[in-house]
Amino acid sequence: MRYIDPHIHMVSRTTDDYKRMALAGCSLVSEPAFWAGFDRSGVEGFRDYFRQLTEYEGRRAGQYGIRHHCWLCINAKEAENVALSREVIAMIPEFLNRPNVLGIGEIGLNKNTRNEATVFLDHLDLAARTGELVLVHTPHLADKYAGTRMILDMLAGDGRIPPDRVCIDHVEEHTIRLALEAGHWVGMTLYPITKCTPARAADLIERYGTERILVNSAGDWGHSDPLAVPEFIFEMRARGHDDATIRRIVWENPVQFFSGCRRFSLSGLREPVNA
Ligand SMILES: [Zn+2]
Repeated sequence: MRYIDPHIHMVSRTTDDYKRMALAGCSLVSEPAFWAGFDRSGVEGFRDYFRQLTEYEGRRAGQYGIRHHCWLCINAKEAENVALSREVIAMIPEFLNRPNVLGIGEIGLNKNTRNEATVFLDHLDLAARTGELVLVHTPHLADKYAGTRMILDMLAGDGRIPPDRVCIDHVEEHTIRLALEAGHWVGMTLYPITKCTPARAADLIERYGTERILVNSAGDWGHSDPLAVPEFIFEMRARGHDDATIRRIVWENPVQFFSGCRRFSLSGLREPVNA
């Protein structure tokens, strides 16, 4: 089945992964800006990263018939440096008219600190002023519930961005309802161990339905699986869900969310080899 992986960090994956994803039915990915595994030394490091995401990675993906989109921001792990964060946020508009950019992300919280919140609000201000979509990372494990509450409060407090132009990512059993009830899209991240497994994600679909829900691999340089979305398709089929239901989650929903970006279009997209 043809699918989209709406959250995967391809710059830290191999070209073999692109090929395996293409063979499994992937024809479009979206790559949020994230932490490189080390703190960058200055704004030029981010400029080079944004050039990689907007000028180079799409060509690498294209060799495997996969269309590449991205999101731009300074991630929460580096947001403790508010001065650097503000330099990066001021530089982002240089890249916002590039054709593969979908919006601002993945912004969010990591340890739920005051500086992270300050930088989150600055990103929201940029997104509101420029009319961009927003992709939000929610914290890991013990910090997730409190961090998700803080994020939803900040979004509601700003109030300029319609809730359905924001996706709250990495939701789990204890946070999905909060985000859906606030009117946002949600992303379930399919990780082999932490976050949602494909089986837990299928359980949540059975409880909450398919509206405004995305699934992604969040594949990166850590322990993760770039074929997690096809694993989810496999799980859903094994449970007897029909293809229309599954296709809504892995194709139509991400297309609908991304279509909120004025630069997004499916025109010219080719069928994957196995579709
Ligand atoms: Zn990520």
